Amino acid sequence: MKNIDWKNLTFGYVKTDCNIRCYFKDGKWGPIETSTSETIDIHIAATCLHYGQEAFEGMKAYRGKDNKVRLFRWEENWLRLQRSAEGILMQSVPKEIFKEAISKAVELNQEYIPPYGTGGSLYLRPLLIGTGAKVGVSPADEYLFMVFVTPVGPYFKEGFKPVKMQLIRDFDRAAPQGTGSIKVGGNYAASLRAGQRAQKEGFATAIFADAKTKTYIDEAGPANFFGIRDGKYITPDSESILPSITNMSLRELAADMGLIVERRHVALDELGTFEEAGACGTAAVISPIGMVQDRDNGTVYQYSKDGEAGPWCKKLYARLTGIQYGEEEDKFGWCTVLF
Ligand SMILES: *Cc1c(COP(=O)(O)O)cnc(C)c1O
Repeated sequence: MKNIDWKNLTFGYVKTDCNIRCYFKDGKWGPIETSTSETIDIHIAATCLHYGQEAFEGMKAYRGKDNKVRLFRWEENWLRLQRSAEGILMQSVPKEIFKEAISKAVELNQEYIPPYGTGGSLYLRPLLIGTGAKVGVSPADEYLFMVFVTPVGPYFKEGFKPVKMQLIRDFDRAAPQGTGSIKVGGNYAASLRAGQRAQKEGFATAIFADAKTKTYIDEAGPANFFGIRDGKYITPDSESILPSITNMSLRELAADMGLIVERRHVALDELGTFEEAGACGTAAVISPIGMVQDRDNGTVYQYSKDGEAGPWCKKLYARLTGIQYGEEEDKFGWCTVLF
């Protein structure tokens, strides 16, 4: 075990021993390589630098109660990386290469996996970029797939506390038939201004309305939105939303716990009807939403009066993290024990 102050780990980059790389060249994927370098050497005309051929994944390895190390639904991350690659015409990564690369990255850096009980985990960042040189606009013929890892603490240092979010209509992160449903860096670039402004104005992040009609909830910053009302788990469906694996899992758990699950357009008008609301994704699992303020008309929607997360947010969070840390029965078969 490395000498790291596990209790005070943030969600930031910490250097580890190595990262994993695999190059696609001359029409085929090469061997899986281990590198101790934190930098990559790429051509100045690489398509990832100029034309946004870049997609990534975010996943975690957890040290469980039984001291075993688990990955959560890694095949879903692979599938999504496939869709991202197809979406921006990149070479897709074969499943065996993906599996071997993530497994190796965790195994070779296992001393960086936070101990059970600290709330931390080893964050994995698989990355696929076009490295072939092009000046005319076209997809590259060379690619780099790599995986680096970094130990992270719980997303919110203050604990599982509700955050404030700002509903906005004057920025879009993705167009209806654009790249919103795939995990590409361009979506993040497009969302930075709205996110930073929301933070300057005192909010955790911005909630985007759908780009076309501005009448539906799209995404809660870099996370999916859900609301709870009358025994229902309600989450937006739209072609510009990134299909979150956390949300998919929460929907299954919600149904298992007796909630009715609705995945459909969620009108902005419904914001006033929810008993609880949350944002979900791998990084935070659930960020309970305490209030949403509409930036255009000042309307405030309140979901937490006492500064505490609601009962369903708490239950869903406990159940999902319980499975990830091997405390609860993995009845859906979501975890892969690495070692
Ligand atoms: C990655 C991501 C999410 C969360 O997906 P998970 O699979 O749950 O981590 C949600 N929204 C956006 C825009 C994302 O990029």
